[in-house]
Amino acid sequence: MKKTQIITTVIEYDSVNELSQQDQLLVKNAKETALNSYAPYSKFNVGAAVQLNNGEIIQGNNQENSAYPSGLCAERVAIFYANAKFPNVPVQAIAITARTNGSFLETPVPPCGSCRQVLLETEARYKQPIKVILCGEKKIKIVESIRELLPIFFDKEMLDE
Ligand SMILES: [Zn+2]
Repeated sequence: MKKTQIITTVIEYDSVNELSQQDQLLVKNAKETALNSYAPYSKFNVGAAVQLNNGEIIQGNNQENSAYPSGLCAERVAIFYANAKFPNVPVQAIAITARTNGSFLETPVPPCGSCRQVLLETEARYKQPIKVILCGEKKIKIVESIRELLPIFFDKEMLDE
């Protein structure tokens, strides 16, 4: 038997003003699009903004449905739209924000497991790490690759074994 440890490196900031101009703009886009989410059931409005290598920023927000599983998270709405519109352009970063009861959350909200898996596939597809910016009002957490949040992962290499 062998026990191993996996270390996740997270960079924390107390204010969005400490981020680079590019990351601040991405967070601004994520917050802006959270206001347009369709979340009548959870009333939990999530906004995601994706930075592409060509300079484009793609926004996405959660889209709920009365048949609950038919809805989709903000992160996947943004990533899938980015990949649909610019299929040959790598993704550099994604910023994620959430609001409920009329204000943005103080603590950063991480992506769900399914969104982590999709971000992982996107990293592998473009062979470029995706910086993940989790933005709360009182704390911002950044990881330099989605692999930090999904260290033991399933990918296409396993399909070939
Ligand atoms: Zn998700």
